[in-house]
Amino acid sequence: IYSLAGKKVYVAGHRGMVGSAIVRRLASEGCEILTASRGDADLTRQAEVEAWMEKNRPDAVFLAAAKVGGILANDTYPADFLYDNLILEANIIEAAHTVGVEKLMFLGSSCIYPKFADQPIVEESLLTGLLEPTNEWYAIAKIAGIKLCQAYRKQHGSDFISAMPTNLYGPGDNFDLKSSHVMPALIRKAHEAKTGHLPDITVWGTGTPRREFLHVDDCADACVHLMKTYSAETHVNVGSGEDVTILELAELVSKVVGFQGSISHDLTKPDGTPRKLMSAAKLRALGWSPRIGLEQGITDAYRAFLKGEYLERK
Ligand code: GDP
Repeated sequence: IYSLAGKKVYVAGHRGMVGSAIVRRLASEGCEILTASRGDADLTRQAEVEAWMEKNRPDAVFLAAAKVGGILANDTYPADFLYDNLILEANIIEAAHTVGVEKLMFLGSSCIYPKFADQPIVEESLLTGLLEPTNEWYAIAKIAGIKLCQAYRKQHGSDFISAMPTNLYGPGDNFDLKSSHVMPALIRKAHEAKTGHLPDITVWGTGTPRREFLHVDDCADACVHLMKTYSAETHVNVGSGEDVTILELAELVSKVVGFQGSISHDLTKPDGTPRKLMSAAKLRALGWSPRIGLEQGITDAYRAFLKGEYLERK
């Protein structure tokens, strides 16, 4: 057991959906939480990251900082998604090693797996096939992050671990329709259709792809659990173990939001990978399972949306 009590814990990416959920979750761990604003350290600048780490000397690090976005954003800005993510994770991991961080958790994504991996996707299927082209840039950066943690463990004995969350949603999400993921997009579309008395909402693609979702507060709880109890080279999937079709999701979101119109499709938009359900077996064997069901979670995400608990992005 690695106790966080009394430790200095740096949450990189504390303004993002995952980082802010980890900060909320850490409140009950009796640790000192460190965060760095962009003005304190631009994470894409090595010298700034090194200087910040030297000065603040965290004991533990949650690496939740990333350039993130939905299927269209990934497809449109491949250089940003690859470069920004590679550089910031390399800067933080190297600086964490230099200042002697005891434990680091790198957060990735389920898109690291091959497009046609057997479902549910087990951790061992990493690097066994080709990636989904719409987000391979982001995926390559995240795979590099896992490999960095493994390499520092192998070469320096660093206790650096990796967790790969599934599609997350909840407070602090990005609700911008051009760059968001499907969940916040559908919540916003259903809300605007309801309040604007529109006849329908538009779902991108065929609606047949299947996706798994986890509320970000469950994810943060799983991350803290792993930080305290897990210490090994292999990354761990963080998911609910269940998936739904995009059409089923649109129907459930409509129900929660109270939108009673119909659902239409924009077939000019991509479907992406047909199914992306991760195996939750390893995480369950490590003693963690989710608490927030999908309908309850969407209700909370909609509440957060109505209260303006989200980030406006460019
Ligand atoms: P992915 O999981 O990496 O494919 O990312 P997304 O969450 O962006 O998309 C998941 C699936 O939802 C894809 O099949 C999208 O085409 C579909 N989808 C349906 N409507 C929307 C929408 O309004 N926004 C987004 N981002 N995806 C949508």
